[in-house]
Amino acid sequence: MIRKIVFYPDPVLRKAGAKVEEVTPEIRELAEDMIETMYDAHGVGLAAPQIGLSLQLAVIDVAHDEECVSYLRVNGEEKTLEEICPIVFLNPDIETFGDKDIDVEGCLSFPDLRSDITRPFEVRAQFETLDGETLVIETDGLFARAIQHEVDHLFGKLFIDRMTSARKLAIKRQLKEMQEDYKQA
Ligand SMILES: [Zn+2]
Repeated sequence: MIRKIVFYPDPVLRKAGAKVEEVTPEIRELAEDMIETMYDAHGVGLAAPQIGLSLQLAVIDVAHDEECVSYLRVNGEEKTLEEICPIVFLNPDIETFGDKDIDVEGCLSFPDLRSDITRPFEVRAQFETLDGETLVIETDGLFARAIQHEVDHLFGKLFIDRMTSARKLAIKRQLKEMQEDYKQA
């Protein structure tokens, strides 16, 4: 089932999500719905707060471009994106490292906004799966960026927080319009 995506400045986007303590049938269904909702919205990632649920659960699929990472290891084993996407992750813990990388990002909670965002190029992410396994993903490029973007959502952080002050100034009007639309909705 496709769920409704919430837009900025919905307060749920600013809340840190609770840990998913138990994978119930509802959590499985939620994860399936989030994958469906992400595809329907043509996104590469979606976090539970973006459908109004303050939980540490997110989905990502960047397998449309196998070249978007230069390496990918899952629990130390080389994998392809196709083998692991779409991926559902719960209760993540990430470390970032590597060079600062600038690339364009969008966010399904900001439908008309895209912006250059600087982030570290590589991540090591540990998280739980729906099957109760703990996985460690080491990767770079777009996948590392998507993981960082989604994990930010799980802790109430948004990509606008990572924009340069010049960029923030440039989009001030756009954010104000979103705030007005939200009040009227
Ligand atoms: Zn987002």
